[in-house]
Amino acid sequence: MHDESARRATKHAVVIAGGGPTGLMLAAELALARVDVAIVERRESQAVAGARAGGLHARTIEVLDQRGVAERFLSQGKVMQVAGYALIPLDISDFPTRHNYGLALAQEGIERVLAAWVEELEVPILRGVEVTGFVQDDTGVDVELSDGRSLRASYLVGCDGGRSLIRKHAGIDFPGWDPSMSYLIAEASMTAEPAWGIRRDARGVNGLGKLDDGKRVRILLNEPHVVQSDAPTEGDLRDALIALYGTDFGVHNVTWISRFTDTTRQAASYRERRVLLAGDAAHVHPPNGGQGLNIGVQDAVNLGWKLAQVVHGTSPESLLDTYQQERHPIAARVLENTMAQTALMRGDDRTMALHKRMTELLAMDEPRKRYAGMMSGLDVHYDLGAGHPLLGRRMPDLDVVTPEGPRRVFTLLHEARPVLLELGERALAIAPWEDRVRHIDARYAGAWELPVLGAVSAPTAVLIRPDGYVAWVSEGTDHGLRDALTTWFGPPAARTVIMA
Ligand SMILES: Cc1cc2nc3c(=O)[nH]c(=O)nc-3n(C[C@H](O)[C@H](O)[C@H](O)COP(=O)(O)OP(=O)(O)OC[C@H]3O[C@@H](n4cnc5c(N)ncnc54)[C@H](O)[C@@H]3O)c2cc1C
Repeated sequence: MHDESARRATKHAVVIAGGGPTGLMLAAELALARVDVAIVERRESQAVAGARAGGLHARTIEVLDQRGVAERFLSQGKVMQVAGYALIPLDISDFPTRHNYGLALAQEGIERVLAAWVEELEVPILRGVEVTGFVQDDTGVDVELSDGRSLRASYLVGCDGGRSLIRKHAGIDFPGWDPSMSYLIAEASMTAEPAWGIRRDARGVNGLGKLDDGKRVRILLNEPHVVQSDAPTEGDLRDALIALYGTDFGVHNVTWISRFTDTTRQAASYRERRVLLAGDAAHVHPPNGGQGLNIGVQDAVNLGWKLAQVVHGTSPESLLDTYQQERHPIAARVLENTMAQTALMRGDDRTMALHKRMTELLAMDEPRKRYAGMMSGLDVHYDLGAGHPLLGRRMPDLDVVTPEGPRRVFTLLHEARPVLLELGERALAIAPWEDRVRHIDARYAGAWELPVLGAVSAPTAVLIRPDGYVAWVSEGTDHGLRDALTTWFGPPAARTVIMA
């Protein structure tokens, strides 16, 4: 970039390319941590063309609850059991969480609530503008915009979806699997009464369902041959209907038509110096099990507080390495489980027989719990070393009693700050971190129970990261506490200026 335009560029600590679910969530997390952040979004408004995600899983509802905004989403959708594996329902109503269910809410609804929250947090969103390129140096990134303007940021995060320009421009590899199937998805009217419901054929699942008005039809059809072009036509839709049902049911008034495939890929690296990736920009996979939006939002919650600490200088840049260490395996597991589900949903006799066996298996308690824990995101376990089962797992939303009165643990995380929760007499000293870590005494007499694992022994203290995962557990001593505080929240003297 020309020196003069770089000098004139508007500066932000973080620029996010893409204001979809991941970019919006990341912006909220950074704003809560008082980071100067801006979003650049190609779309003029938050409107989502056609159908994409249909809802939220339990862990995503929990992370929103940790910020005090879950009710905004719950009030807009329908609470129900949504977890499933290859269309085999998985009930989580016996799971030890306040949100032992999912939420049916279309992606547009989810994005609207997120965008309103981000607006409340006063994050600027540059709408109708694309990031067209960037150049990074040792101190920051110059971000070029489609309207000729430029921005200067300490960090640029690509939340710009599966075809991420940021990922490509950063030269980050996107290895994985080419598509084995393509699907047409459309919204239209039909003159004849269609064959409602799901129909499986040798390749997979097809479906004709009623849209909200009860008359128009949402169409999902797998195509006889894999097609990767972006622009399916009404003719393609007719052909696919006739190939499968022997008639096109008089399809007309097609208001939206799109195509998606089971392309399955993951960024080899989530970071290239000052450029990071999150959400679909970092991983794409078929929609089986409804996981993409959910893991994107959770990427953002993992990255937000870490990036904020690096921006504020409280933690070294190496903290960002833990973002990839923790989130890459989570998406890799999703890639694998969506490929397995794609295979299991083929409708040939042999696969149908296997699907039947899998249905039997998942009706048993232990397999159901394991798969439901995976699909709902409640079993996430970051590898923080050996120790108490809580270590690296989500902190349960216990009802505790603090000196200020009864509180839910999640309410202690609303400000997106770390919390050291002491359960009993105060015994721990963390003075050099008190500026960053809330130190709260609480009483709790109830059981400690984790999804999938069941009951665990009661700790005497827990160090909870802003994303709600447990970074350190005490069973009566302070062994390892300083190390954990330093690893996650920076060195003790980070803010002390030593005068000579
Ligand atoms: C048919 C279908 C069904 C699905 N069902 C589910 C489901 O039930 N549950 C689920 O969790 N997920 C589901 N998904 C996946 C989900 O839609 C995605 O995982 C989710 O949208 C990813 O969010 P994101 O913010 O990472 O990316 P996106 O939603 O793709 O957002 C990226 C944003 O970046 C913007 N952008 C792109 N390039 C630029 C640029 N250069 N400059 C500026 N802005 C840019 C785009 O306009 C967009 O707003 C489904 C997807 C499909 C296709």
